[in-house]
Amino acid sequence: MTQLVDPFDRAITYLRVSVTDRCDFRCVYCMAEDMTFLPKREVLSLEELDRLCSAFVRLGVRKLRLTGGEPLVRRNIMWLIDRLGRHLGSGDLDELTLTTNASQLAKYAQPLVDAGVKRVNVSFDTLDPDKFAAITRWGRYDKVMAGLAAAKKAGLHVKINTVALRGVNDDEAERLIDWAHGEGWDITFIEVMPMGDVGADRLDQYLPLSMLRGQLQQRYTLTDLPDRTGGPARYVRAEETGGRIGFITPLTHNFCESCNRVRVTCTGTLYMCLGQEDSADLRTPLRTSDDDGPLMESIHEAIGRKPRGHDFVIDRRQQKPAVGRHMSVTGG
Ligand code: SAM
Ligand code: SF4
Repeated sequence: MTQLVDPFDRAITYLRVSVTDRCDFRCVYCMAEDMTFLPKREVLSLEELDRLCSAFVRLGVRKLRLTGGEPLVRRNIMWLIDRLGRHLGSGDLDELTLTTNASQLAKYAQPLVDAGVKRVNVSFDTLDPDKFAAITRWGRYDKVMAGLAAAKKAGLHVKINTVALRGVNDDEAERLIDWAHGEGWDITFIEVMPMGDVGADRLDQYLPLSMLRGQLQQRYTLTDLPDRTGGPARYVRAEETGGRIGFITPLTHNFCESCNRVRVTCTGTLYMCLGQEDSADLRTPLRTSDDDGPLMESIHEAIGRKPRGHDFVIDRRQQKPAVGRHMSVTGG
């Protein structure tokens, strides 16, 4: 099968798959409290997700990330993860990983390791239990802490992802760094993105990471690292702790030229760019044919339309998100 290469000569080797739009949290920047979730028939079955991911692997994808919503609240999710683990065994896939809020990790850390998962990204914004409750609305701090402890015990590598929220957690950035590095984990700060109407004022939450970096330089000696992942993260080392700090600034264009990734929602909609609305329906070819031919064809055709870059902007006059879908649809 021909490998996936887009019109700008970028090889597509990284697929993020949202396995559910549901979540046990209601983070203020991600979801409204009264979210309406998709009817079951619209969501791909675990078998369909396996077929879809496996088709991408045959087309040259080397890294798969499961996300959501919260991937670990999907019923029977370990069946899918175990199935996908076969591509690690065969050498067709380099990495199978997840982005999770850690609420279910106490239960799943060991089974994940057994399936071949080596690392997970854990979204975690504050060490203050009251703030944690305010940010996640429905999250249980003690459960997340138990999940992180289970990950450590199982030997699962953790990277902490923290959304930088002005006036909410910017005063604890150093505490979060010291904590994460003390545990032996990298920590990455993410600039809040204008996605989906969540009923909050984005401009109030927005904290440019250049400002955060300036703040951190008062405390740490930061050395730029060359590590690039093809994504929007830049890394530095804090000499005082020896740990890595990442900065993800999706509102800037500076990473698009090396973009190696595409995203699929839990309904089988392929988004070629996180910041653009253009998409392709992969559910129809999945459901209308047992043969993977039409599916592969649809994937190729869509990659042929992958845009050069994105159009993110927080519209200051309209206060409307530039991209209407919620982050829980494409999973970040
Ligand atoms: N539930 C999982 C979790 O929280 O890790 C996976 C899905 S979540 C949508 C993926 C990532 O998107 C999380 O790190 C979350 O913090 C981030 N995210 C959600 N909404 C965002 C927004 N508006 N701006 C920036 N990051 C956002
Ligand atoms: Fe759920 Fe993750 Fe969104 Fe929070 S960021 S509401 S944990 S999907």
